This record gives sequence, C-alpha cells and structure tokens, in this order.
Amino acid sequence: MAFLNEHYLKLQAGYLFPEISRRVKEFTDRNPDAANDLIRCGIGDVTEPLPRAAIDAMHAAVEELGHRETFRGYPPYEGYEFLRAKIAQHDFRDRGIEIADDEIFISDGSKSDCGYILDILGDQNRVAITDPVYPVYVDTNVMAGHTGPAKSDGAYEGIVYLPCTEANQFVPAPPPDHADLVYLCFPNNPTGAVATRQQLARWVEYACEHKALLLYDAAYEGYIGDPEIPHSIFEIPGAHDCAIEFRSFSKTGGFTGVRCGFTVMPKRVTAQTEDGRAMSLHPLWQRRWSTKANSVSYPVQRGAEALYSVDGKKQVRALVDHYMGNARLLRDAVERAGMQVFGGTNAPYVWVKTPQGVTSWEMFDRVLNDLHVVITPGSGFGSCGEGYIRISAFNSRENAEEVAQRLQRLAA
Ligand SMILES: *Cc1c(COP(=O)(O)O)cnc(C)c1O
Repeated sequence: MAFLNEHYLKLQAGYLFPEISRRVKEFTDRNPDAANDLIRCGIGDVTEPLPRAAIDAMHAAVEELGHRETFRGYPPYEGYEFLRAKIAQHDFRDRGIEIADDEIFISDGSKSDCGYILDILGDQNRVAITDPVYPVYVDTNVMAGHTGPAKSDGAYEGIVYLPCTEANQFVPAPPPDHADLVYLCFPNNPTGAVATRQQLARWVEYACEHKALLLYDAAYEGYIGDPEIPHSIFEIPGAHDCAIEFRSFSKTGGFTGVRCGFTVMPKRVTAQTEDGRAMSLHPLWQRRWSTKANSVSYPVQRGAEALYSVDGKKQVRALVDHYMGNARLLRDAVERAGMQVFGGTNAPYVWVKTPQGVTSWEMFDRVLNDLHVVITPGSGFGSCGEGYIRISAFNSRENAEEVAQRLQRLAA
C-alpha cells in the first residue's frame, strides 16, 4: 500500500470556519425569521462587481482566442511580459523602488504562492510566524513537515510564534531567538495593523543579521491611506537582499474569483546550501514555475493588466474607497458602542476588543443572537487573538450601514 503524507494528520481540523457555519446554522434553525436579516461580516471575500476595465479587457482577450490570427496557446511560465512590465513599472519603479520586470512572477493568487514558496526552501529552516495569523503560513509549513505536532493550545512545536498584542500595537518586534524564515503581513489580516518604516527597517536589520528571509505578504497594500506607511518591503533599504513579496489582485481588483497575483523575487535574494554556499533563489523560483505550472490564463492576465490603465486605476481606487468607507462606518459604530477598536484605517478589517471577561466566541454568539450579524472570533486566528473579534468591511454599503446601526445596541 502507498504511504500518505502524515504531516497532514497533524493539521488541526479546520476548526474556525466550520464552527462558525455550525453556530450560524443552529441559530437560523432555531430562529427561521432571523435568517432573513442575517448579515455576514465574517469572511475575507470581496462583494462588489469587477472593475469595468478588467471586464472589457477579459472580453477582448477571449475574443482574440477565438480567431486563428490572434489565438494564443501556453503563456510564458512566469507570466506575460505585458503584465510583468506593467506591475514592475506601476507598483515599484514609479514609486522609486528598483524592481526589474523579470523579478515579477505571475500566479493564480498569493495564497498559492505562500504555499509554493516552500518548494525552493530547505526543510531545516526555523520558521517564525505572527499570532494571530492568516492560517495559510502555518498550515503549509505543517504540511511540509516543518513542525512537530500541535500542542494543547493549538500552537505547533518548532514554530517561533511572534505575539501581536495591544502592547505592541499588533506589530511584533524581531524576537531574540534565531529564525531563518519570517512571515510578515501588512496591512494585516486579521488585525488591520500596519507597520511603519522604522518597524520594517528593524525586521530587515534582523534578517541581515540572522541571514534570514522575510516572506512579506502585501495583499492589502492597496488599502493603505496613510502616506507614511510603506506599501512594499522593498521600500526599506537592504530588503532586496533578504525579502520576497507576495501580492494579489484579489482585494484590490476584486479578483478573488478571477484568480491572479504575483511574487516579487529580487535576483539578489539568496539562501544557503547545506555546505554554506549562498545562492540566488531567483533561478530556483523560475525553475519551479517552468516545471510545475503553465502560468495563468491569457484573459485573466489581460484583465489584471487593465487594472493599471488610467480607467482601471480609478476603478480600483473606487472599489478600495468603497470598502474603506464601510470600515469607517463600522469603526465609528464600534467606538460609539463603547468598545475599543483597532485597524480599519489602512485595512478592510476592524479588530475589536471584547468587553472585559468576554471571550471571542462568547462575543461571536452575542453578536449573532442579539444583532443577527456574523463576525469572526479573533481566537480562531491564534491564541493571541483571544479577546478580540474581526469585523470585515467587505460588504455592500447598505449592509455596512445596517450593521453599524445594529452595533449601537451593544452599548445598552
Ligand atoms: C486575501 C488574502 C490573500 C490573497 O489571496 P489570493 O489567493 O490572492 O486570493 C493573501 N494574503 C492574505 C493575508 C489575505 O487575506
């Protein structure tokens, strides 16, 4: 009989979202009338339709594929030049960040990239991950056998956890311990926190000192409004030697269903062989793509390219402004209800401290039962998320306004 990958058996049974569904179902079964006015502010998925520029570009691309003269087959492994060049120019060089076109690798989204990157990294790396966290970084390392079993508190043996708390404003400082890989995500999901230039500079310094690699998830960079906050890790001097950045069109262009993202892999980023030779990761990443994948569909890449047109940029701006308008409504409502609120100013997530002595799940039940609103319990993202809830701003304006109204009732 064939053997299975036993590391999968260490994974905690995808507890968070199934448990939310279970509680919501139980509630709606008991209160069929309430089911109609239930509003979901739980999942991190966009709700608004695609930008017109992307729709038109995808239509045109499909039509091209329908004619012999303009038909195209397999795309280049790393993505089409037209898209790599647009990204490198608009997202990086126009902002004064030196990134070459061939340092951009197109993918079907950054969730995939966060997992794929482990293909080119050694199994002996010591991995540091924030708590609370986007579960993908942890689970992909568990699957790859980089951890021991989960302990009773849900934390895995062998991972260096970086607590994100009110005391550090949810931006951890580099730990005294050594790590080889550090996952950072700013603006952050779930806390909505952003890191300042100084805070990121300390991480780059740590990476240089420890010869570590920063895996920087910037999926929400489009939501940064504060001009002082860096959009890319490569705004920090030295980062080109020690960082890989993950980006996505999911939250900016509403591409969660279309599927497109990219990694920024500077040629200067190195990692070492077992016998201590530093080698560039860029050729390995190139090799990984050419061997294991055939890139992303042509219409999708044209759709992503269109987000960089003059109209596309305006439409993306409008989408982001829409969600950030919701975030403002939700933030204000939570504050008026007398609760402490974080995030929601440079990110589409509002991170709310539960009242004294109320756990994340107790708050979840209260918001569900009393307000008929589904939020996400912070404890589901890690033990440091206990005592918080996450409210997502991904919604229609109508729903966000209604939720803001209902949140007032918590004040009573
Ligand atoms: C939504 C999200 C992404 C984007 O994932 P895609 O696979 O590109 O849709 C990446 N990182 C975080 C933290 C996210 O919340």
